[in-house]
Amino acid sequence: MPNEKPKPKNDDELPEEVFRVARLGQTERPFTGKYVNEKAMGIYLCAVCGHELFSSETKFDSNTGWPSFTEPADPAKIKLETDNSSGMKRTAVSCQNCGAHLGHVFDDGPQDRGGKRYCINSVCLELKESGKGPTDDT
Ligand SMILES: [Zn+2]
Repeated sequence: MPNEKPKPKNDDELPEEVFRVARLGQTERPFTGKYVNEKAMGIYLCAVCGHELFSSETKFDSNTGWPSFTEPADPAKIKLETDNSSGMKRTAVSCQNCGAHLGHVFDDGPQDRGGKRYCINSVCLELKESGKGPTDDT
């Protein structure tokens, strides 16, 4: 059922690279993530719990080396927190459902699309491509 709350994976079920970012708040190396240049349409899910986080419609080429989005699929599905680590004042983005650290949001996104850049680690995302499998219940 679509409304069923996704159940997060246990920490010991997570691949090491996912654990490091989602649970320890680390950042994957730029231009190494599997979704940096991904162009397929669909919805990006939380790699830990399957919560729907970002739509491919808001993804854009930021040339920063990480998948970048102008806005979340639903603001209620992500959590924003001030992050003063690394000597920078940033806003950290995490999954509202399971608390996985996802990345950071910056104010240097496309001005004509709201000016935000959600800079998200590929390892924290899982793309569910649209057009594959059943699309709805009808
Ligand atoms: Zn999650």
